[in-house]
Amino acid sequence: MSYVFAAPPVVSVPVVGQSAQFPVRHIYCVGRNYEDHAKEMGFTGREPPFFFMKPADAIVVVPAGETGSVHYPSLTKNLHHEIELVVAIGKGGKNIAAADAAQHIFGYAVGLDMTRRDLQNDMKKQGRPWCIGKAFDESAPIGPITPAAQAMGVEQAEIYLQVNGQDRQRSHVSKLIWNIGETIAHLSAAWELQPGDLIYSGTPEGVGAVVAGDVLLGGVAGLGELSIKIV
Ligand code: MN
Repeated sequence: MSYVFAAPPVVSVPVVGQSAQFPVRHIYCVGRNYEDHAKEMGFTGREPPFFFMKPADAIVVVPAGETGSVHYPSLTKNLHHEIELVVAIGKGGKNIAAADAAQHIFGYAVGLDMTRRDLQNDMKKQGRPWCIGKAFDESAPIGPITPAAQAMGVEQAEIYLQVNGQDRQRSHVSKLIWNIGETIAHLSAAWELQPGDLIYSGTPEGVGAVVAGDVLLGGVAGLGELSIKIV
């Protein structure tokens, strides 16, 4: 096969305890999946799950123990952090039952769904797509993927984010409105999942703005921490 120019590189994420990388296909994100976050965004928290996507090359890989750099994006004056548990799919499928979802999961990681909130809100008001608010360059920082067998208890784990050492978000994955199995069931009814898909499962309450110079440190207990600096 020859191409008219060099094909873009495969985006991939390191895996804890393995030299092989996890190649990323699609990034699915769940909207308003913690009740207290849905409320802070002006909703009841009782709606069915809904989804949006980011391009795979929005990923910013941050190796364990390092602080990644994320550029303050263009066009916005209100860049928000959303700390999230990320589910990495290792086996594809469609119409996956919630009870069978675990066998499709390769592992879990800590991710940030960075959001240009002012642009997202403009799009909401006008009934337009969220892409410009959600799917911009460097909008999906992520730490290494922990294989599922080494991530026991992740569905009950504490999830948190600090900015410059101050707590902004702190909750538990057990407070997901739609848990991981239910999320995979809903998602796989709409799209056939494939190995390499990532699911950003939603953020708890406490989202807020960051500015250049801020250092974000987030984590999900058992999966390590994710640190980035806005530059
Ligand atoms: Mn989110």
